[in-house]
Amino acid sequence: MTHHLDATDPLAGFTSRFIQSNEVRAYLDGNSLGRPLTATLERLAGFVSHDWGSRLIRSWDEQWMQLPLALGDRIGHVTLGAAAGQCVVADSTTVLLYKLIRAAVDARPGRTEIVIDRDNFPTDRFILEGIAAERGLTLRWIDTDPDGGVTPELVADAVGPDTALVVLSQVAYRSGFIAEVEQITAITHESGALMLWDLCHSAGVVPTELDAWNVDIAVGCSYKYLNGGPGAPAFAYVASRLQPELHQPIQGWMGAADVFAMADEFVPADGMRRFLSGTPPVLAMVPLHDMLNVIEEAGLPGIRSKSLALTAFVIEWSDANLSGLGVTVGSPRADEHRGSHVTLRHPAFREVTELLWRRDVIPDFRFPDGLRIGLSPLSTTFAEVQLGLELVRDILAELAE
Ligand SMILES: *Cc1c(COP(=O)(O)O)cnc(C)c1O
Repeated sequence: MTHHLDATDPLAGFTSRFIQSNEVRAYLDGNSLGRPLTATLERLAGFVSHDWGSRLIRSWDEQWMQLPLALGDRIGHVTLGAAAGQCVVADSTTVLLYKLIRAAVDARPGRTEIVIDRDNFPTDRFILEGIAAERGLTLRWIDTDPDGGVTPELVADAVGPDTALVVLSQVAYRSGFIAEVEQITAITHESGALMLWDLCHSAGVVPTELDAWNVDIAVGCSYKYLNGGPGAPAFAYVASRLQPELHQPIQGWMGAADVFAMADEFVPADGMRRFLSGTPPVLAMVPLHDMLNVIEEAGLPGIRSKSLALTAFVIEWSDANLSGLGVTVGSPRADEHRGSHVTLRHPAFREVTELLWRRDVIPDFRFPDGLRIGLSPLSTTFAEVQLGLELVRDILAELAE
């Protein structure tokens, strides 16, 4: 099937670099698990036969000890606007959130509050609940419009002399709303607090300038728009100026100043290595190289343009063809606030999602009534989006009969 928007899409050629499958008619969940690149098949095979199979333990010296930092630098350079020496790949987002939030609140002693919004991703909220209990801190909750997100005004109202840390997502996982990172970070700094940004739904698709925006700390996952594969480790960014004063709580040998000194006491490494704990998940980092190469080749500005075109297409198509069936758009309409997924809302969408999956059209469902259409610009075609939306329309019409 062809679509006129694919014919004029300058990035259309990239879609064929991903593994195709006749068990998928429309993949609309690249914001949850990115598709694998064909190049990754060969890279994984080469890893097993050469890096692991032939070089064996020598690979630790030859590349693996440096890999968390080298790959972190590459993510920073290609997607985050971060100069070298400020990113590392490790753990999961959940664990990195724990480590960095603990480090951040400990770096602001005497301040008793952590600010977060109620619609933030569950793991972010759950981790904060635990840390607040552990450290005797209070959570200050920001309430947001569920179809929108956190605004600078809401943050300005929530922070004050007691705030130790503000934790927010750049792109809201439900609505796709993009927060104003630079402005909100500045407001947080004026109160004397630190700011942590969760970039899970932005890395690789919504450009950031972490250095230029004076961001303190950021974390994000690599299996969404970075296509690292299920369970691929997360990344963290800590601004150079902050690294010496942050001490994370899971101090293991891989974060020590001299890993093989087998020292009596823990002395943290300088720089980003101090945020490592145990042996890095090397195997799970392998596929990331391929997507970073492709993102660099395509260029983030072009990726962002296609993302906006795809999300605009979903919103326009829904307005024209689904609104009569009771569907509303639960995502921002303004370009500057629109991330790379669109949430459509309808009370029947849980049931509709199941029927879509049975027919190999794969978006996801988010409680209470959201059909999330994830649009990964390098792998998603306009044709498959249209095919998916047409099926949504047909199923809703059938259910209404
Ligand atoms: C996907 C996502 C996570 C995932 O955390 P894991 O530890 O990888 O399971 C966390 N936060 C946000 C905002 C996410 O979108």
